[in-house]
Amino acid sequence: MSSGQPEPREHGARWLRSFAARLNAWYSLVFLASVLVLFVGLYWTLAGSLEEREHAFLAQKLAEYGEAYRFGGVRSLQAAVERDSAIPGQTSLFVRLVGRGGTDVTFARVPPEWVGFRDVEVALPGGMGTVAGREKVLRIPRDARRDLALASMSLAGGLELQVGRGTDNRQVLLQPLRRAFVLLGSAALVASFVGGALFAHRAARPIRQVVRTARDIVETGRLDARVPKAGNTDDLAELAALFNTVLDRNQALIRAMRESLDNAAHDLRTPLTRLRGTAELALQPGATAEQAREALADCVEESERVLRMLNTLMDVAEAEAGMMRLDRRLVDLRDLAREAAELYEFVAQEKDVRLQARLPQGPVMAHVDPVRARQVIANLLDNAIKYTDAGGCVWVEVQAEAFPGQAAVRVHDDGMGIPAGEIDRIWTRLYRGDKSRSRRGLGLGLSLVKAVVEAHGGRVAVESAPGKGSTFTVWLPRKGA
Ligand code: ADP
Repeated sequence: MSSGQPEPREHGARWLRSFAARLNAWYSLVFLASVLVLFVGLYWTLAGSLEEREHAFLAQKLAEYGEAYRFGGVRSLQAAVERDSAIPGQTSLFVRLVGRGGTDVTFARVPPEWVGFRDVEVALPGGMGTVAGREKVLRIPRDARRDLALASMSLAGGLELQVGRGTDNRQVLLQPLRRAFVLLGSAALVASFVGGALFAHRAARPIRQVVRTARDIVETGRLDARVPKAGNTDDLAELAALFNTVLDRNQALIRAMRESLDNAAHDLRTPLTRLRGTAELALQPGATAEQAREALADCVEESERVLRMLNTLMDVAEAEAGMMRLDRRLVDLRDLAREAAELYEFVAQEKDVRLQARLPQGPVMAHVDPVRARQVIANLLDNAIKYTDAGGCVWVEVQAEAFPGQAAVRVHDDGMGIPAGEIDRIWTRLYRGDKSRSRRGLGLGLSLVKAVVEAHGGRVAVESAPGKGSTFTVWLPRKGA
């Protein structure tokens, strides 16, 4: 890092803005919501089942006391109530036998917490109670800590039997549950936040490394910085690996461009020096007008050569760096071969070389840039005619499926051929065979052929024997790669 270690505060602020912090905040929120839902569900279920038990108990007592009354009147009812209150640990029950509307109390047993509780008369006949068979059970909230539950049942003779009990369920069971929730919930929340922060920080490490690497490249211009390899294979590790691949490609591209620039500068130096030499000749004192004119004409010719060379060099560099724009389409290679042969017909005639296109019946489709592919065939034909003496023969051939998924174009000649010692070097930029130097050429034709064919995803090959002739083959893809 060029800016040194960041301040702790700056570090903290950056963490707060980070993906890991956001992830953690969301995770904690979801966790809190789930715990809340769980608790509310638990609380409701527990409270509901407690209330159900309460109701069942009251209904049972109501039935028992009703039966006792039916069996032996008020005395029997009183005996049953007394018997129950003698049981140790049993909460004393509110029991009352009244006429309808709360008048004419025949029997009453009122525990202290029910004394003065007037609502009983008012509340019972109303529709608030839950109806279970013939009993009505009513929960009357009394204070924060306890409720009163009351069940009633109609008896013969217009009487009503009421049984009630103070319940402290909420106090006994639900209160500790609430407390436990607050305590355990907060502890779990803190633990989940801290744990989540640690995990999120760890999980987001590849992202931080990508950011750090990118910043490093931007700040220092060091193109060889890479994200360290991760041990796992998750999608963030894949992102880091892909990022490295992009950096590798870019670096290779930049290196190739630098090399081509160096090469072009190097390659142009010789012809430009020659050009200057010729121009200086024209400027020499004592040079006649005729000599100056001749030198100028040479200069024009030389500069044209330099220009052609520069253009071809740029094409080769572009194709080699994978930056050549190819306008690919499906074209019939027979058409391209025919057109190229037509183009060179005149040159061949001039040299008294027979030129033929031997093409198959059906179309041979290939997925190529037609302009570039035509240029490839033209370069091969140009060489074949150039390196074949008068009376020789040159022919171009097209073959479908010469290789799986590839079509071939072959250019044959029965010309001078290439010596075995040179055959590996003919594809090199600016290389010219020993015997070829007397003929026109820049030494760039075959390097352009190779670069363009390879940019298409194809291959090149040559077979040659000195004095017998040469066969150049290029394979081009039939479908888009
Ligand atoms: P140039 O033809 O301008 O010299 P090229 O790159 O096209 O450059 O070819 C490189 C060399 O390969 C030539 O100088 C020549 O020696 C050899 N060569 C290419 N084509 C043929 C051919 N058809 N027959 C014999 N030699 C060839």
